[in-house]
Amino acid sequence: MATKGRVLIIGATGFMGRFMAEASLAAAHPTYLLVRQPLIPSKATIVKTFQDKGAIVIQGVMNDKEFMQKILKEYQIDIVISTVGGAHGLLDQLTLVEAMKSVNTIKRFLPSEFGHDVDRADPVEPGLAMYKEKRLVRRVIEESGIPYTYICCNSIASWPYYNNCHPSQLPPPLDQMHIYGDGTVKAYFVDGFDIGKFTMKLVDDARALNKVVHFRPSSNYYSMNELAPLWENKVGRKIPRVTISEDDLLALAAENCIPESIVASITHDIFIKGCQVNYNIDGVHDIEIGTLYPDETFRSLEDCFEDFVTMIVEKIHKGENEVYGTKSLVEAVPITASC
Ligand code: NDP
Repeated sequence: MATKGRVLIIGATGFMGRFMAEASLAAAHPTYLLVRQPLIPSKATIVKTFQDKGAIVIQGVMNDKEFMQKILKEYQIDIVISTVGGAHGLLDQLTLVEAMKSVNTIKRFLPSEFGHDVDRADPVEPGLAMYKEKRLVRRVIEESGIPYTYICCNSIASWPYYNNCHPSQLPPPLDQMHIYGDGTVKAYFVDGFDIGKFTMKLVDDARALNKVVHFRPSSNYYSMNELAPLWENKVGRKIPRVTISEDDLLALAAENCIPESIVASITHDIFIKGCQVNYNIDGVHDIEIGTLYPDETFRSLEDCFEDFVTMIVEKIHKGENEVYGTKSLVEAVPITASC
């Protein structure tokens, strides 16, 4: 049986990188993690969990060309996945590209994308500045000749808070639901587990070579007006809606607080301008993931919302009666008292 490609993940201590590390290990790829020092205790615990599952940890930073050349050769890395943060570090990938180009052995590079098609979407600032960095990284990769795949997985499956980069770490709101604009513009919501799983399928799939892969699961296609009752049904109560207008989002974006203003500008792009849905996937470099793996299903948003209910119930049982919005968990989720 052919051995699986050796995967180097840069950013496994971060939000998106954890899904990649889990999926790479689950798919039995020899998995190497580039980890920066010093590690705060919570990140050290994550790294230890991956090591226990077989990951090999390499300490260092990717913006050191000689070091990267050395480790790419020494560990005979085939596939590099970068999940550096959107607000900081994207341009560090330029040094990584130089290192990969000089070793000339990388079979696939997946840069830190994992959102929208940055060549098509056009958010206001400061989201635009981040997209310009991602666009520059694309152009440098294409110029280098390194084989690549760009993952455009759209929104993470969770409540799309307009001021939080990592909404899937927070349950949907229990006090009031913010509806963007008229609430009718739709978006695609993909569970982090599935982003990792499908990314790992793509890393050695010849059909994804030098392609932009779009995740558009029709089962997980919702507007804010549809998302709201989905969550209300889960928690068994009505939650008041509050409109966040286009002007509200633009005002927060204009404040230029990083990262909140980046999230506001991207929220505006998704739920006012419709950046996930206002184009067809018909370019020569475009593929929709469902056409590659028609028999594979995506976790439903309903199941992801169920996970949030479980998260809330567990917190209550642990006595962590945190306050979400203006209501305590016990008050806000009466169904949990009888669970
Ligand atoms: P995080 O900030 O959570 O994590 C970034 C990771 O990169 C950390 O592990 C960090 O290490 C590491 N890192 C940064 N610079 C370097 C470097 N020079 N050398 C080595 N490691 C480095 O990022 P996210 O997971 O939020 O973002 C990753 C990508 O996913 C971005 O492109 C972002 O736009 C996208 N994204 C998409 C979302 C969606 O809904 N579709 C949601 C969130 C993100 P350390 O731990 O030391 O800081």
